[in-house]
Amino acid sequence: MKQNGTTSATQLSKLLKELPTISLDEIGDAHFASGSDTPLREDAFDITDERKIELIEKHFREIMLIMGLDLTDDSLAGTPKRVAKMYVKEIFSGLNPSLKPKPTLFENKYKYGEMLVEKNIQFYSNCEHHFVPIYGLAHVAYISSGKVIGLSKINRIVQYFSKRPQVQERLTVQIVEELKLMLDTQDVAIVMDAKHLCVSSRGVQDTASSTITAHYSGKFKEEKTKDEFLAHIYQSASR
Ligand SMILES: [Zn+2]
Repeated sequence: MKQNGTTSATQLSKLLKELPTISLDEIGDAHFASGSDTPLREDAFDITDERKIELIEKHFREIMLIMGLDLTDDSLAGTPKRVAKMYVKEIFSGLNPSLKPKPTLFENKYKYGEMLVEKNIQFYSNCEHHFVPIYGLAHVAYISSGKVIGLSKINRIVQYFSKRPQVQERLTVQIVEELKLMLDTQDVAIVMDAKHLCVSSRGVQDTASSTITAHYSGKFKEEKTKDEFLAHIYQSASR
């Protein structure tokens, strides 16, 4: 499958077999991210969204002016406000914990005890180092401990954490940690396969590569369960 230019099915299955799971320690030491929590200031929500939009508009206008753009031009005049609203209300709205999706859990009445895989969840995020898009697919699985989550909630959790300035490694861990809490189980897994525009549209300008991260928890650390999960992804990816 070539969806949004992400990794092909054959490459994916091969890579996933060898991919180590990410631990929080590794992220702290070996990656650029500083931990699994998004680094937020203590006063992050002391001002309202409306005030944030006003301030960002003002500063974005300055950035455009410094770059030499003529803001009296019709096409540019509304851009600072548009960008400010988009930052606060859309692409970085996941910074606000009050917008975190509330879990709707159901009793596992049908006693379904196998893994559930929600595959090919399209997500859009932004690299926190360059503020340009990261986009790709997330594949999530869990084994019910007695609670079942509404399927769309898994997508919403992925979208919520994507709507922050991110690094893919942290995003991967944040989604799993949230689902573990919501579902009251350790048995959660995720694979994320994404394009980074900071790699493809600038810098090394590599348009072919994609970045795969994975996080396996509980039973998904066992070879058999992990293989079954990866087989589901492989099947979906080759369709
Ligand atoms: Zn970047």
